Amino acid sequence: MYHISDIKKFLRCQRLYYFSKDENNVFKPYLRSDENIVDLLKEYFGIKECYEGVRNDPGERFFSQIDQYEWFVHPRFVEDEMRVNVPFMHKNGDLFDLYFMYYGTYVKDLDTLSYRITLRVLKDLGIKIGEIYLIRLNGDYVNEGTIDPKKLFLCENSFNRRSLKSIIEEVDVDFKRYLKEMEAFDPQKEAPRKCRYCKLNGLCDHYDKCFPNEEKDADDSILTLVSSQYKNRMYEEGIRHLKDVNTDLLEGSRTQYAQIMASRNGGLFIDHYSLSSWLDKISKRPISFIDFEWDRYLIPSYEKMRPMDVVCFEFALYYIDENGHMEHRTFVGTGDCRREFVEALLEYLPKEGPILAYNAQGAECLRLIELSVIYPEYKEELEKIVDRFVDLAVPFIDGLVYDVRMQGNYSLKKLVDICSDYSYKDLDIYDGMEAVYSWRDIANADEEKGEKIVENLKEYCSLDAYGLFLVYRWLIQLMLESK
Ligand code: SF4
Repeated sequence: MYHISDIKKFLRCQRLYYFSKDENNVFKPYLRSDENIVDLLKEYFGIKECYEGVRNDPGERFFSQIDQYEWFVHPRFVEDEMRVNVPFMHKNGDLFDLYFMYYGTYVKDLDTLSYRITLRVLKDLGIKIGEIYLIRLNGDYVNEGTIDPKKLFLCENSFNRRSLKSIIEEVDVDFKRYLKEMEAFDPQKEAPRKCRYCKLNGLCDHYDKCFPNEEKDADDSILTLVSSQYKNRMYEEGIRHLKDVNTDLLEGSRTQYAQIMASRNGGLFIDHYSLSSWLDKISKRPISFIDFEWDRYLIPSYEKMRPMDVVCFEFALYYIDENGHMEHRTFVGTGDCRREFVEALLEYLPKEGPILAYNAQGAECLRLIELSVIYPEYKEELEKIVDRFVDLAVPFIDGLVYDVRMQGNYSLKKLVDICSDYSYKDLDIYDGMEAVYSWRDIANADEEKGEKIVENLKEYCSLDAYGLFLVYRWLIQLMLESK
């Protein structure tokens, strides 16, 4: 049996699909939803009675009960080994109206491939289609104490002023052809070809299987050039190192300049004047280093939340006081801990001095501004804190410093790896999404397991905060050594 996700994977890379067939990956959603969306949608539509499909339903089940219901929730359909399901279907005379779901507030792109395959399967099974709707979340909705499904959802039958049905029907996707190709695909017969997914978010898990004899790229490989639309072309033309870049094919940003100069200088580039001015901003003690963790909620579970809002559940703070001593504080809350988070922050954070965070404007500062709207009684204090933030990512993303060992990766973790012996690999929680999933697990954990998760969360977030200190110290060392 095949699912739409199999076809999508196959279209991305045939080998990727082939290798993933035997993997048993458990899907973990990025967005949290404590509420049952199907129940909320039933309230939205005023559904009292309906057919409810379940996982692995045989395709015939829908047809055996077609006359008994007006509404059908997640009916499953099977045609030629292709299995699809529709979130909501409504009988409308001889026709069926379809309701697809968009898990967000603003529809940027339609998942037309999924809708078109679903439509093809339904039509092949003889189901006549009426109108097609897309349900999304209302970005203006605010939880006023309880969730009101009538205001939470929006249901539309058009996109960019065109009818959804006409957009979906204008291309007929021959899924049966894809199924045949998937069935016939044999990785032994087809040599692997490099595609954008090989190195899209780091190296593909199957890279070594596909390209076992490939020489490891140098740290200053041309492929590490950031924001370059021509780096693959340069690589194919035989350019291997940043220092040999074809300047005619260069966009010419400051970050790219820093990368190329680092490659030409033996591995490191520093814009002394700009870095020194930037470091001057942080000369006054106490100096704080802080990192937040948060979870993003699809449905606004708590009062004053909108769809897709976050709950900050943790912070770790290090600060160097006026006497040069380093202090460490952490906070981990559970459930709706937004107020406790704010109060702990106001209690622990030094009342003055710069506060360093990584990507501060799009992360910590934004979170504090959101919290200042929810808790106006703390607005003034939180705004003053926001004004003290200094973004440690700036020297790197603005091209003031580049070390070829970064390999085009500007994450805090990469920098910590370069400038210290600390490693996230030694931790039970090793990245931000793992921290979020672990925090979600606390809700169903017994006391002992819950305490262990909190301990792991503190270790992880504290390394992020301490990592800020390590990178800051490294920048000072680089300045001193290069004078
Ligand atoms: S390494 Fe590239 S070719 Fe191989 S499976 Fe991954 S994406 Fe496909």
